[in-house]
Order: sequence, then C-alpha cells, then structure tokens
Amino acid sequence: MTVDLGFVEKCESWLLESRFFPSKVGGKPAWLDLKNIPGEKDVQCEYCKEPCIFLCQIYAPYEENDDAFHRTIFIFICKKKECSKLNETGNLKVFRSQLPRINQFFPPEPPVEQRDWRTDINVDQWTKTCYVCGILAPNHCSKCKKTNYCCRAHQVYDWKHGHKGTCGSSNEPTKTNDFLLPEYEIVIEKDDTNDESNNDLSKEEEEIKKYEAMIEKGEAGTLQNEDVESTLLNVADQQEDQTFCEFRLVVDKYPDQILRYDRGGSVLYISSENKVGDVPKCSGCNEERQFEFQIMPQLLNFLNLEVATECVDWGILAVFTCKRSCIPKNGCSAEFVWKQDIVETISS
Ligand SMILES: [Zn+2]
Ligand SMILES: [Zn+2]
Ligand SMILES: [Zn+2]
Ligand SMILES: [Zn+2]
Repeated sequence: MTVDLGFVEKCESWLLESRFFPSKVGGKPAWLDLKNIPGEKDVQCEYCKEPCIFLCQIYAPYEENDDAFHRTIFIFICKKKECSKLNETGNLKVFRSQLPRINQFFPPEPPVEQRDWRTDINVDQWTKTCYVCGILAPNHCSKCKKTNYCCRAHQVYDWKHGHKGTCGSSNEPTKTNDFLLPEYEIVIEKDDTNDESNNDLSKEEEEIKKYEAMIEKGEAGTLQNEDVESTLLNVADQQEDQTFCEFRLVVDKYPDQILRYDRGGSVLYISSENKVGDVPKCSGCNEERQFEFQIMPQLLNFLNLEVATECVDWGILAVFTCKRSCIPKNGCSAEFVWKQDIVETISS
C-alpha cells in the first residue's frame, strides 16, 4: 500500500490550463467540465456569505470507471481571518467533477505539452467566468458589457483595483493577481518510505507497552512510588502525543509534502483530538464516502498571506468523496471536507 505525495513547484502558467488536466494550487480553477461550473451560491462562505476563492485542485481519475476517465477535485476557501474557525469547515467547499474519455470538451488522446497546442480548449468557449475569481459569472459590467463577474462584491473589487481605468477602453486590463492565491503546479510522486516509518513507530509503541506491563506487574519496583506516578503520567502524555509523533515521523521523510493521496486509505491525523466523526453519504447516489486525500499544513507556507485581515489555517484538510464516483447531477458534485487543527500547543 503506497501513498502518493504532492509537492508544489513553480511552472509556466500555460501548463496549468484545463487542456492539460493539471493538479494545481492558487490562481483561477482550471475547470474540467467546461459548461457546468460552480457559481457564487455554491462556493459561498457560510460565515461572511462571500464566495470562497480557489485553493487547489487534484486531478485523480478512476482508471476502472469510464465515467470518471477524467476526474478532478476542487477545494475553495474563504481567506478572511474571522472566517477561519478551529475545527470548523464553514469556510471550505469541495467539488468533484468528471468526464468520460469521449466528451464534448477534450479530444480522446492525451494532450501534447506544447504552449500552442489546442488553445481553443478553454472555459471561455463554453461559459462566462468571473474576471476576479474564475467561477460562474452571470453578471457583467453594465458600462462595457465585456467583463464578467460572479457577484457584486467581486465587481466592486475589480472596479477599485483597475477596471475603473480600463472600462470601455481596448487596453488589456491590469491583472488583479493579489486577490487570488499564488499559483503552483502540484507534482505527485509515490511515497516509498511508508513501510519503514511504520516500523519505527511500532518499535516505539512496543517499548511503551513493555514498560506499562512492567509497572502493572510491579516489576518496576526499584522505583519509588513518586517515580512510578510520574512515569505513568509521562506514559499518559506520550499517548496523547502519539498521534502527533506519528504524524511528525511520517511527514519528516518528505517534509515539503503538501498532499497525501491515499484513496480508500486512512487519514494521517495531526492530533488525537477532533478526528472525523460520521462522514455523510454522497448526496448524489447515497453511497458511502471514503477518504481520498489530505492537504497538509506545509501548503500554508506557500500562500503568502501576510495582510492583517487574511488568514487561512489548518492542521490537515481531509477530503472524503463518493466511493462509486457517481456521475454528478449538475456536472459538479459537492463533497465532504474535514478540517483538523491542533488546539493545544504541543511541546516537542
Ligand atoms: Zn468568509
Ligand atoms: Zn468572482
Ligand atoms: Zn466595464
Ligand atoms: Zn455518489
């Protein structure tokens, strides 16, 4: 059983367009189903009611299922500080989109990695997207009727940050880049160290168990009572930290990993508190959802959020998706995300 690991890398932005089926962080989403994309209400933050912005997408086809020959999971997040709440996910939205091999948007053959290859394959050929954030845009600027927006808030934002000067003129508008998160490719590789780290861990566990057994039988009798008590306390502490230790041990092999992909596997928790409870069934087909991947805290280091009003934070983001990967009814299905934070500071 191997886990796939994802790392961020800078690359030319044309490689991150829909036609190349990318996994990526930041910028605008590279949609898969180019007609059926989420709108303002779908990505609305449950706290501030503004649309969440694009965090990342993972291209993850089901080889065995032709309905999911192409398959991408999208994650959106609200970057307002007051919307980032401990172990709460109202500021996060996840969507699954998929296509069969034969579809109306992409040719059945794999793409050719060249800048000028099939530039006609893009979302603008099919639907209007928000100039600011890239989701469905039912509105446009009433003056020039050329620039599209998902909502009033993004129209106002764009007016203040450049459109006021370029509206109606033929000048290319200046990009409003700082609104979106910085863009990276996610490169996915196999984790070959998994078994080794498990061994390290079980050795440690064994030692603790041996010692506990000794104390129970009174074999740790050379210790004074006080010592026994404090030893027991330490053991209890260690057990509490066990989850975090395991996390550190596994992650330290490849400390830059921002993604662990392990469809049908299990979550690598960062803490023993606030583990996922009941995962709701798929809203499309009522099938169970299974763990698919988790986003690691290392990704936070790449998001450049330094403004006082912006804050996104997580210990891990664990994504659970429909086991069958059923065909999304509206071209795009909401899936389940669990955010685990570290509540107490753990001394290590
Ligand atoms: Zn919000
Ligand atoms: Zn928008
Ligand atoms: Zn305009
Ligand atoms: Zn389903």
